[in-house]
Amino acid sequence: MSLFSYARPKALREALGLLKNGTVALAGGTDLITLVRHGVSRPQRLVDLTGIEGLRGWAREKGKGVRIGALTPLADLETSAELAKLLAIVPQALRDAATPQLRNMGTVGGNLVQRNRCWYFRDEGVPCWLKGGDRCFAVDGENRYHAVVGANECWMVSPSDLAPALIACDAEVEIVSSLGRRRIPLSALYLAPSGKGRREHAIRPGELITQVRVPEKALARRGTYLKAMDRKAWSFALVSVAATAKIGRDGKATETRVVLGGVAPTPWRVLAAEKLLDGSALDDNACLAAADVLLKDATPLRDNGYKVTLARELVRRALRSLVTA
Ligand SMILES: Cc1cc2nc3c(=O)[nH]c(=O)nc-3n(C[C@H](O)[C@H](O)[C@H](O)COP(=O)(O)OP(=O)(O)OC[C@H]3O[C@@H](n4cnc5c(N)ncnc54)[C@H](O)[C@@H]3O)c2cc1C
Repeated sequence: MSLFSYARPKALREALGLLKNGTVALAGGTDLITLVRHGVSRPQRLVDLTGIEGLRGWAREKGKGVRIGALTPLADLETSAELAKLLAIVPQALRDAATPQLRNMGTVGGNLVQRNRCWYFRDEGVPCWLKGGDRCFAVDGENRYHAVVGANECWMVSPSDLAPALIACDAEVEIVSSLGRRRIPLSALYLAPSGKGRREHAIRPGELITQVRVPEKALARRGTYLKAMDRKAWSFALVSVAATAKIGRDGKATETRVVLGGVAPTPWRVLAAEKLLDGSALDDNACLAAADVLLKDATPLRDNGYKVTLARELVRRALRSLVTA
């Protein structure tokens, strides 16, 4: 483990001032500290955000939807009966994320920009492409948990359970730096690493996520999150599906969103698949046709073809549950 200095500012402005080159933000530390211990991340300084009170908690804001502070512990969202009534898909997505202890420590901002779980990336001794090497070892190696679609030079998968659920609710993230603030769709936070960038997230050095916002309109939709795991606890998604839609009195869906986790380097969404579902009764045939569009570009590796079959069926079940709930 390399040496680093540590600061715990009390105000956002102070934190932003400290975020210079070689400095990394620390929230719950459940991901970052492991990476530092294993030598995958070598910050010169950690800026601990947990002393900044204003970034914790969530609220419904009249006419403006739901605002969630970046430092809110995942457990606060998972266990809130009030949030379950407003935005059930969020507690549902978190129920099977990590463990109760990790959900107590882990925060919303940290969960959204946690690094991927590829074992080649996380092994200090492996010079994988994402760490500056010249190839992705998953392509010819152990690849049962890797991407089946959307990968370029790097076949890792986006690990967050919260991200697909919030993207299916049209969430936006607010990002601040000492130069100002910007708001982007949460989906735009995720990059399939390629070219010179080799980045998983669009967040730039010196920037922090301060909050996530779900628009009022999305609260009128039904939502569901399904996650397939290879054991029942402490497990990342093999495949997950977040689906939301407005269901009319005639039983037809509008404003449909379907986002997959665990299959691509980013939460995976294909607008043409969602378009296909708008106006449909979400019957089996419509759901499977949409799944086929979502997965049409899939090119599985040697050991992960099962993800395509699994995703297709999970998409069907998630969408069906919106009408049968
Ligand atoms: C055994 C295990 C199992 C897990 N299983 C799951 C799972 O099933 N599903 C799932 O979704 N997750 C899972 N996780 C991941 C876990 O949810 C994350 O580790 C946690 O959410 C990260 O939050 P944190 O606050 O601890 O982040 P930290 O570890 O403090 O930080 C993680 C990253 O986020 C950055 N960061 C933190 N806050 C901000 C901010 N406000 N702005 C900008 N950057 C920021 C940090 O710089 C760092 O790069 C698992 C983790 C472990 C260890």
